[in-house]
Amino acid sequence: MEEGLLLVVSGPSGCGKGTIYKELLKRNGKINISISATTREAREGEIDGVDYFFINEEKFESMIKNNEFLEYAHVHTNYYGTPKSFVFDKIEKGNDVLLEIDVQGAMQIKEIYPKAIFIFILPPSMEELKNRIIKRGTESLENIEIRLNNANKELEYINEYDYVVVNDEVIKAVNKVESIIQAEKCKTERQIKNINNIL
Ligand code: 5GP
Repeated sequence: MEEGLLLVVSGPSGCGKGTIYKELLKRNGKINISISATTREAREGEIDGVDYFFINEEKFESMIKNNEFLEYAHVHTNYYGTPKSFVFDKIEKGNDVLLEIDVQGAMQIKEIYPKAIFIFILPPSMEELKNRIIKRGTESLENIEIRLNNANKELEYINEYDYVVVNDEVIKAVNKVESIIQAEKCKTERQIKNINNIL
């Protein structure tokens, strides 16, 4: 069986990564979303075990010590990390997995699993990014500033990514991500078994 794809999606806060992957999931139920652990407070409407595993710093640090994360990073003002067990279990069974993580985490994945596919989501403009974060209404003024500052730092890593998708319209952006997935699956190196079967 061919291994599943590991898709790593990053982009500044407010660029719409969350909306894109939720729409992607609606269309393609076969993609598995890894649920991260975080020390950040749950936003209104977020559910523990669905959006994130919301845990305290003590628990997070004990998970780091016990080597339970595939990658983790301190983003904005909190810890975020990808629990190890889920990801490779799914990929080995031929299922695709999507990680929505920051650039620091993405660079760690690049070291551990260079075969992963790295997609960077950009907002149509930096002005629009600011408007979207403000409009979302989930962050304090201080947090908005932190997130906008981090956006500039994250952009410095854009050349490390295989693909860039501008999120001007969600449907168009999702179409592009789906095309990337399909093209990656058609790569000759991922078609060896199919080729042998056909021949
Ligand atoms: P938010 O607080 O808006 O949900 O997420 C803040 C940032 O943390 C986003 O850039 C998101 O991609 C990143 N993030 C979420 N989960 C993880 C994770 O497991 N690892 C890393 N490194 N970053 C994550």
